[in-house]
Amino acid sequence: MTTPANPSGMSPSDEIEAQFDALLERMTLDEKIALMSGVDFWSTLAVPRVDIPKMRLTDGPNGARGDFAGTETAACFPVGAALAASWNVDLVREVGVALGEETRTKGAQVLLAPTINLQRTPVGGRNFECFSEDPHLTSRLAVTYVEGVQSVGVAACAKHYVANDTEFQRHTVSSNVDERTLRELYLPPFEAAVKEAGVWSVMSAYNRINGVFASSHGELLNGVLKSEWGFDGVVVSDWGAALQTVENANGGLDLEMPGPARAWGVQLRAAVDAGAVSVETIDDHVRRLLRLIERVGLNAEPVDYVERSVDKLEHRALARRAAAEGMVLIKNDDDTLPLTVEKLKTIAVIGPNAAVSQIQGGGSSGVRPHYVVNALEGLERGFGKGARIIHEPGCATHKYAPAFNPDCLVALDGTPGALTCETFGNEDFEGEAALSLERRGSIFLFGAIGVVGAGAGQSMRLSGTYRPDRDGEHVFGLVSAGFARLFIDDVEVIDNWTDQTPGESFFGFGSAEKTAAPVLIKDKAYSIRIEYSRPADALLGGLRFGVAPPMPVGLIERAASAAAEADAVILVLGSNSDWETEGHDRQDMALPGEQNALAAAVLKANPNAVVVMNAGAPVEMPWIDDARALLWTWFPGQEFGNALYDVLTGAREPGGRSPLSMPMRLEDHPAYGHYPAENGNMPYKEGLSVGYRHYDRGNAALCVPFGHGLGYAAFKYLGVSAPETIVAGEAVRVNVILSNAADRAGSEVVQLYVRPLRPRVSRPDKELKGFKKLTIAPGESVTAVFDLDARAFSYWDETRGDWRCDPGDYEILIGRSAADTRLSAIISLA
Ligand code: BGC
Repeated sequence: MTTPANPSGMSPSDEIEAQFDALLERMTLDEKIALMSGVDFWSTLAVPRVDIPKMRLTDGPNGARGDFAGTETAACFPVGAALAASWNVDLVREVGVALGEETRTKGAQVLLAPTINLQRTPVGGRNFECFSEDPHLTSRLAVTYVEGVQSVGVAACAKHYVANDTEFQRHTVSSNVDERTLRELYLPPFEAAVKEAGVWSVMSAYNRINGVFASSHGELLNGVLKSEWGFDGVVVSDWGAALQTVENANGGLDLEMPGPARAWGVQLRAAVDAGAVSVETIDDHVRRLLRLIERVGLNAEPVDYVERSVDKLEHRALARRAAAEGMVLIKNDDDTLPLTVEKLKTIAVIGPNAAVSQIQGGGSSGVRPHYVVNALEGLERGFGKGARIIHEPGCATHKYAPAFNPDCLVALDGTPGALTCETFGNEDFEGEAALSLERRGSIFLFGAIGVVGAGAGQSMRLSGTYRPDRDGEHVFGLVSAGFARLFIDDVEVIDNWTDQTPGESFFGFGSAEKTAAPVLIKDKAYSIRIEYSRPADALLGGLRFGVAPPMPVGLIERAASAAAEADAVILVLGSNSDWETEGHDRQDMALPGEQNALAAAVLKANPNAVVVMNAGAPVEMPWIDDARALLWTWFPGQEFGNALYDVLTGAREPGGRSPLSMPMRLEDHPAYGHYPAENGNMPYKEGLSVGYRHYDRGNAALCVPFGHGLGYAAFKYLGVSAPETIVAGEAVRVNVILSNAADRAGSEVVQLYVRPLRPRVSRPDKELKGFKKLTIAPGESVTAVFDLDARAFSYWDETRGDWRCDPGDYEILIGRSAADTRLSAIISLA
């Protein structure tokens, strides 16, 4: 297809639409239907007869991964919750631009991001990937993220539409939500992405909404999204979420992924022939696909679709800055932070997440990063020769056997730190293999790998030598989507081939872990062989392998004595992708392993210990009252260690404010009594009472309120001005004056909440309707300006099916968090 010459009198967009009309005339019905389903895991069909190029899609959201088939690496930025914690819309736009550039390096034109579902409970498996519990904050960040990505000609894809807030029974569960709650909480981020940012694609979720599959939901797709909001882009199914031929086509789904076709293809052709789906409906879907192909520039320039690793210095710097800006300083008693670098001779860096930090969450959002700066490495590099650093892990936190220690591994050709990987294009290890080296402990097989064609079945053999660094019982583990077995010195020790138990891994397609615990001798060479086979008809495959060597005894005591003798202690606790991942929710909010005992022992040995929490979602911290300083880092991307050094030493501020409320205990969260689902139905009985809307009612003690976070400067809220009376529906301007009383510059997130004083209907106590992140020089005063429109005062009126703004008095609350408001003004809406 070529972009047309300019026929007189038509606008460029009308001309392009006319070109689509002509193209639709030329295409056969079978070509149109074929274009509506992917051809492989990540691509749409090319139709050379009418010059339609193929289009490639890739995940998102904290990097642009590519297909994981080769060895290409990607920039790994902070995850959604970490980015959101910056409350910095401009920073998020910059990250969006970088992600758009990264998408291009992976030969793709659509980035499957951002994830704009809400953190409805503290245990949602993908909470780390979502921005916030609040629709306003999520919306503002969604808009600039999408604008950033699309500014470089790459399509963003707002996902997952809608009420996809749990991983529990995720392919079938029905989120049963009333209309008002949908309109006020779960839909606004999508509405903003469409209406304000003009997002080019939206992903329909796996779940059902009030009984109807998201990909068939005519009311929400054709009605709300396309007709009401004017969305003219493509609705793509989540991977494998298209299950209903006629309902999907008539409900508003435009593209079935992944390919080849399952719900559509020949079945859709039969449905059209039978008159169950009209040709006009097909044409509308195809027109949207043609529009997307045009928008991402595929008609303008030839693309080679090749994946490349492009590790740019600017992306490194941006990842470092973004990680620091999302770090939330929750406690800082007695100004424990920043550390005074010159005074420190010995620093104890303790904890399970210090040497092996968690930079991203588990599941489809994971990338193979260009590099990782773990916390310990970043601190060692930062402090350099100026201080002696001692490290103690304190305890283990794995749920599955962790990846092999590379220092103990040698591939068949003598390469250290790896296993030799032979890949075959069939299920049975037949014929010639593609050879590579494997360093990971987890391999996703989305589409084709190595020499293989999609749908052909695949097998893999991983071989090498394992030389233990200690004596004792070593727990080897295998998890697989597909069949797997492990041999040590040619003896089969794990059979996950003929005998498997279903598990939660690999998005619910994988087995439970199978283990074996042979006693091994230090420094002896053991040959390792892992065999894996993926049947041809499996939607995806995956293999996870590793070994947990015996843990030395007395780790906590060793950590405590290291803490006692150090000038400063940095205790890096947290979780990892065994616990926080797509595919399942967490069972509870407990810190994995013996971390609570470790924290208590270290804080007792050295009360000045700084606790660094490397977790993507809330955890219970029974020792919190004993911690003077607590810094929450989330999963902060490849630059973790460097950014941590910056923040701990004050080179940068901890710029974050929590984008979610963290309860003290699991049973305090709003959906606790009725979560998860019964008989496939997940009731959203808490309605609007999500996050601070629930805790504001005094429902439970909070550990970290929404919006909370400390900096290194000191702000004074001096005054707020707003008109006393306005006519309902008019825009309002609110000015807030604040000053920085500290002797260093700092940033503050000024938050504006609206509270209806005598509402006609039941409403949340207050709701976030504006925020501004400002950097203020020492001693300076600035004015934060907020413009509020009618929506800021409105609620969804179900009887009228529209937003409603009632006259009456509204309090404008200005503050530093949902639990710390400093100024207020009353506005009367006449
Ligand atoms: C996830 C999506 C992702 C897709 C493709 C699904 O399992 O829910 O977020 O984009 O896989 O990897």
